[in-house]
Amino acid sequence: MRWWGWGHQSRRVPLTRELASLLGEALGLGEALGLAGATQQAVALSEIALPEITLLARSRQRLEQIVGSAWVRGDAVSRILHCGGKSYLDLVRMRSGAPEGAPDAVVFPASHDQVLAVLAVCAEERIAVVPFGGGTSIVGGLAPLRGAQHAVISLDLCRLAGLLAVDGASLTVSVAAGTRAPALEAWLAEHDLTLGHYPDSFEFASIGGCAATRSVGQASSGYGRIDQAIQGVRVATPRGELSAAALPASAAGPALRELIVGSEGMFGVITGLLLRVRTRPALHHYEGVVFDDFDAACEALRLAAQDRATPDVVRLSDELQTNILLAGGEANGRRAPLGRQLLRSRHGVLAIVGWEGQRDAVSRRRLHTMTLLQRGGGDPIGETAGRAWAASRFATPYVRDALLDHGVMVDQFETATSWSGLGSLRATVTGAIEAALAAYGTPALVGCQVSHVYLTGASLTFTVLARSYPGGEETQWRAAKDAASAAIVGAGATISHHHGIGRDHAAWAAAELGPLGTSALAALKAHLDPAGVMNPGKVIVGV
Ligand SMILES: Cc1cc2nc3c(=O)[nH]c(=O)nc-3n(C[C@H](O)[C@H](O)[C@H](O)COP(=O)(O)OP(=O)(O)OC[C@H]3O[C@@H](n4cnc5c(N)ncnc54)[C@H](O)[C@@H]3O)c2cc1C
Repeated sequence: MRWWGWGHQSRRVPLTRELASLLGEALGLGEALGLAGATQQAVALSEIALPEITLLARSRQRLEQIVGSAWVRGDAVSRILHCGGKSYLDLVRMRSGAPEGAPDAVVFPASHDQVLAVLAVCAEERIAVVPFGGGTSIVGGLAPLRGAQHAVISLDLCRLAGLLAVDGASLTVSVAAGTRAPALEAWLAEHDLTLGHYPDSFEFASIGGCAATRSVGQASSGYGRIDQAIQGVRVATPRGELSAAALPASAAGPALRELIVGSEGMFGVITGLLLRVRTRPALHHYEGVVFDDFDAACEALRLAAQDRATPDVVRLSDELQTNILLAGGEANGRRAPLGRQLLRSRHGVLAIVGWEGQRDAVSRRRLHTMTLLQRGGGDPIGETAGRAWAASRFATPYVRDALLDHGVMVDQFETATSWSGLGSLRATVTGAIEAALAAYGTPALVGCQVSHVYLTGASLTFTVLARSYPGGEETQWRAAKDAASAAIVGAGATISHHHGIGRDHAAWAAAELGPLGTSALAALKAHLDPAGVMNPGKVIVGV
């Protein structure tokens, strides 16, 4: 993973000529964007300023005794690679050589027992612990905050990887939590199975990180969120092991599993998971449907969802997002004519819909959905658009790097609400972000996408683009983020549909959880983590 951006060192996705021209014009960046070369590159690795190490020699020795001296690292590169996640703010700070902090050491345990022992030592020695899965958090979940402790370590779970057991009859698998999503899918493929969990961050996210943040994948409208796939969890806490029994269903009181899923390392470290999997699909079918406008498309999707005809993949873009998608369709250096014919001839919004499964089932389900979408005004434009989407489905984070190179502020804010509140939520949040960014005297573009649909509502993801304010990137971003968050909370929508709470949403999540809900979670944390070493400053403010 690049330390200053996203992705594999060998892969870059440059801006297409169309996207550079669209954004250059709209954001007032003119030809500087994309065509004249990068204007804002990252400083050299050696120029990054790191804080003094405060971990005591005695504490370090105790950690080395557990995992081995080679697996406790305090060198600059290890610390830099574990400074934070991959949010816009993380990247801006990193590129300027001023991360907000760094762990004093990175510790790599190799087993559940080693994690338990590390946490016990950290509780005794008063060392904060930030669990590190794939390192892709975009809500400040990996910020190296020490809270009331004298030092902070990053607990990198990459050695805790592997497919541990397969139960073909029950269609469940046991997995070590540090396993990266691509490795898991590759192992499952050998058994003709799939988890079907493909977040945009798929290339790097770990399965434990996905569970800890309640993540969703691109096909979660069909496969379900990660929480729906989790049957059981094994957790190491500073007080010992906590295991939620892996059962298909249970009425034995409130579900412990539900307290752990989404807990973002505040109670302990998820070390293993029992996951529900499915037979690998024989067919992946994706296609494009064009609607006259976003509201009509939402209504058609609502009717489809409530008639139990939800496609596995649903990505409905509004007019602006559709244009951005089409202009950026040259991902990976390959021309991907994402419904290009659509925009040449008319205005409209594009929905990518898809089904995965056995051939007969895909055909039957597709017919059901498409009948309803066409009845709602949808105009099918065929598989070319679907194939183009599939070919570039993991390219967006690389495009973000290219935009940062050219001085563009770019971020995504996400939420979910009921069908009846969707239209007004979209308008309110868009207006709030535009007004906040207008104060910086630069135009902003705010696009919107429905990326997951449910019986009762849907998620909205806002893509925000503006010319970045040199030297004031953080305040500019904060103005937009606060405006969006206030609008979301004010409308009674969720502060996060899938990115989680981390540090960035903690203050806003309090409104959603309520005072008693927040203090109940804090009390549980105090019970499982009395010294307060687990991921301080995340999820609940001040804990
Ligand atoms: C470009 C980009 C696209 C993204 N797209 C999506 C998307 O489509 N859907 C989506 O849901 N999210 C998305 N995300 C957010 C992020 O990828 C998810 O939250 C993901 O689930 C995090 O997994 P990870 O392994 O990288 O966790 P990390 O980033 O390493 O950790 C996330 C949080 O969980 C904690 N944690 C990690 N592992 C454990 C563990 N084993 N036990 C306890 N706590 C743990 C960490 O301390 C941290 O607070 C995206 C992020 C980026 C950068």
